[in-house]
Amino acid sequence: MIDQKGILFILSGPSGVGKGTVRKELFDQDTELKYSISMTTRNIRPGEIDGIDYFYKSNEEFETLIQQKQLLEYAKYVNNYYGTPREYVEKTLANGHDVFLEIEVQGALQVRENFKEGVFIFLFPPSLDELKNRIVNRGTESQELVINRLREARKEIEMMDAYDYVVVNDRVDNAVSKIQSIIQSEHCKRERIEKQYKQLLEDEIS
Ligand code: 5GP
Repeated sequence: MIDQKGILFILSGPSGVGKGTVRKELFDQDTELKYSISMTTRNIRPGEIDGIDYFYKSNEEFETLIQQKQLLEYAKYVNNYYGTPREYVEKTLANGHDVFLEIEVQGALQVRENFKEGVFIFLFPPSLDELKNRIVNRGTESQELVINRLREARKEIEMMDAYDYVVVNDRVDNAVSKIQSIIQSEHCKRERIEKQYKQLLEDEIS
């Protein structure tokens, strides 16, 4: 049988960059992607639905999931746990579907360690592009302002290291269309296609 394992896509980036908005817009459009619904211990917000936005868990339940190694990754963010259910991701990929995670940066680093074949997309704040302009037009901005922003920017740029792609979130529709292109390109990668066809030939011969 031809090996048609799905691809795991991970969207992450600094807090406040708009990951949730971009992910929702991506899924509002026609897509074959499967979104992995996370577990969290944070309170449900008005308008959210258990089992659609998150699986809402108590601290005890979440810690049991950690002990039982049922999470592909997890992190504590603003005093609440967030984590990705391992079984859903593994089964969905094995069934040939692409899986999409939208998670904060600590969790993305854990996935990178355990799941190297994933495709890691870093959503980048447009304010850094503005910073670039300020640096280029030096003299028009106060030196102190630029230096402070530079310090913050360095941290965000260093986070990029663990990612395969960087998408600037200047406009949600632009970011979404770039992510769609990344998904398409990944499916056209020679290594993936070659592997599938070699497998097919082997199956034919045996
Ligand atoms: P919110 O509470 O606003 O829904 O999400 C807070 C942060 O948690 C966001 O940055 C979101 O990307 C991140 N997040 C959501 N689900 C997960 C998850 O399963 N694992 C990790 N590590 N972060 C998550």
